[in-house]
Amino acid sequence: MYDFVLTNGTVIDPAVGLNDRRNVALQGGRVAAILDPNVPVVAHQTLDCSGLLVVPGLIDFHVHVFPGVSNFGVDPDETCLARGVTTVLDFGTAGGLIFDGFRRFVIDAAKTRVKALMLIAGQGLISSNDTKPALGELWDIAYCDVEGCVEAVEKHRDCVAGIKVRCMADISRGGLNEAEGLRLARQAADETKLPLVVHPANSTLTIQHILETLRPGDVLTHCFHDKNCKLVDSATQLWPIVREKQREGIQFDVGHGWGSFAWRVVRPMLDQGFDPDFLGSDLHSYNTNGPVFDLVTTLEKFLHVGMSLPDVIRRSTATCAKWLGMSDEIGTLKPGACADITVLDVVECENPLTDSEGFTEIANRRLDVKACFRAGNRVGVLPKPDARQSRI
Ligand SMILES: [Zn+2]
Repeated sequence: MYDFVLTNGTVIDPAVGLNDRRNVALQGGRVAAILDPNVPVVAHQTLDCSGLLVVPGLIDFHVHVFPGVSNFGVDPDETCLARGVTTVLDFGTAGGLIFDGFRRFVIDAAKTRVKALMLIAGQGLISSNDTKPALGELWDIAYCDVEGCVEAVEKHRDCVAGIKVRCMADISRGGLNEAEGLRLARQAADETKLPLVVHPANSTLTIQHILETLRPGDVLTHCFHDKNCKLVDSATQLWPIVREKQREGIQFDVGHGWGSFAWRVVRPMLDQGFDPDFLGSDLHSYNTNGPVFDLVTTLEKFLHVGMSLPDVIRRSTATCAKWLGMSDEIGTLKPGACADITVLDVVECENPLTDSEGFTEIANRRLDVKACFRAGNRVGVLPKPDARQSRI
């Protein structure tokens, strides 16, 4: 007798190439079996998922979840788990100086599974440009202490998946320290043998310089922004180095956020064959009321521009799990994996979706989160915020 069986749903598990009606049986917090829906099962509890999608617990590859310390921080259980996201990658909100606190108050306390990037600057992203004082993390290059960063990684290696640096003029004394910050982050990544993850936007460095710094397994985020240091030229043609680096194994994350998803570059880039590896939302306190709202809203945008449902699910489950080195545990519903599961309803309706530039398009589908399981336990889900209908 199983603990729980989700019956009759369409199971999409790109990691094993499954897209068909199945029953999903859970036992002891793990996926116990994927079963023919026509064969009766005995379980303590069942959930009828007829007409719904049953997918591996969604993974948001890019969030900021250190509320109360970083002014970007949001609560992962409220903004992620309650919206169907069972695992998140915090994108360098904490650096070495404050990572003990990040572990104690977020990673160890949240029901959401939280993995993290370590910011090269010790103080982390504790302020933004509109706070006083604004502690731009490359304002003083002394903030980027490689030794301290490496020590913090060693102490928390089980939770840290990579080293992050932001290349932006306004957090680095007008760009003065950007090249050195990038070099020091590269050094910390090499010393810890972890991937390097770079955020380039309104940088004084060229995208070529940044991409040349990356190696296979490294990640460039914010791949669809339309500011300085973007992946396309003024005619919206991909720079040749982008294809070259993607072939080499450099990976790309969406990181929608408040400034990095412009319809006017997304479509031409996809048309030219550019393929983002991860559909991270870059959810933070400045965009939970739009235009990001939650991960599934970012997924709806990729459905709207023509990405198939299995491709969207793959880039928010299997590809993220693989990068985190956790393919046997999360991002799949294969028997033995942790029973992190998201149940979605694809609702046909008019769905206004706004990009980071304030342009709204009307999609014809919406993804509603109907149920969510974390390690076999059903957790409460919240509806999408009403605000999505009214702003940005
Ligand atoms: Zn971010």
